[in-house]
Amino acid sequence: MSHDCWVCGQKAFSCGDCSDRPQNYLAVKDAWLSSHSSEPAPSSSGAPVQWAIGETPGGIIATWDRARQQFLGTGTPGQPQSHRYGWLELTTACPHRCRHCYLGTRLGHGHAAGAEILLALAHMQDFSVQEVVLAGGEPTMHPGFVTLLDAARAAATHVRVLTNGWTQRPEVIQALAAPGVAVEVPLLGWHKDHDWMTRTPGSFSRVMTSLLRYREAGVAITLTTTLTRAGLQAVPHLRHVAEDWGIPFVPSKLIPEGAAVDHWTELVPMGNEV
Ligand code: SF4
Repeated sequence: MSHDCWVCGQKAFSCGDCSDRPQNYLAVKDAWLSSHSSEPAPSSSGAPVQWAIGETPGGIIATWDRARQQFLGTGTPGQPQSHRYGWLELTTACPHRCRHCYLGTRLGHGHAAGAEILLALAHMQDFSVQEVVLAGGEPTMHPGFVTLLDAARAAATHVRVLTNGWTQRPEVIQALAAPGVAVEVPLLGWHKDHDWMTRTPGSFSRVMTSLLRYREAGVAITLTTTLTRAGLQAVPHLRHVAEDWGIPFVPSKLIPEGAAVDHWTELVPMGNEV
């Protein structure tokens, strides 16, 4: 895969055009991907973001009912008996098109409305969630991210942000460094293997730069990976980085959902690699 931008021919994301407005680049990238492979282009009728309340152990106890604007399920508001968390996807926008993305065809359909997110956070408070997980897509791409992160901190003692480390805007990094916020950043392979997984040339070097900036700002980082073939091969490097920086490293299993189903054979480690 070329490391040049398919729009202007420069190194991808090196110019302000796609760095500041990745949606411009991504529209062309999606067209390029669909014309250069047999994979279907992302559908424009994908499901919206998903929000839920869950317990550990036990799993999901309520999901957001958009029509009724409330969480419905087996769980009831009030004090939980075990760890209760809220799962909140702020957006399905993302600069990447990862081969294992759990969103599948839900990827790339824009942001959730800020007012509805605030309403869901208020309901999560009623359910006494101890932790809110801000996910996506890439949650920091939501235009109201900093405000929404503040609202999540008011709704729960702990906030976990699942980010691919794309955003380097100072106000976002400052918000990520706030007390009670934990940030999980995946490295999906080492160097070009990460770029192969994200299908975004230059993404490894960009996330490494972001990680350095996060560290400088005092962000509580956990390094993660998914144990695909690329992720498994990167584990020694990732352990080394985590030990060197004194941060946790948490690998997780590859789950057959979303895009991973289509790419399963190229993702799953061979028997002799496990
Ligand atoms: S960074 Fe996350 S949300 Fe974005 S494409 Fe990759 S797996 Fe999906």
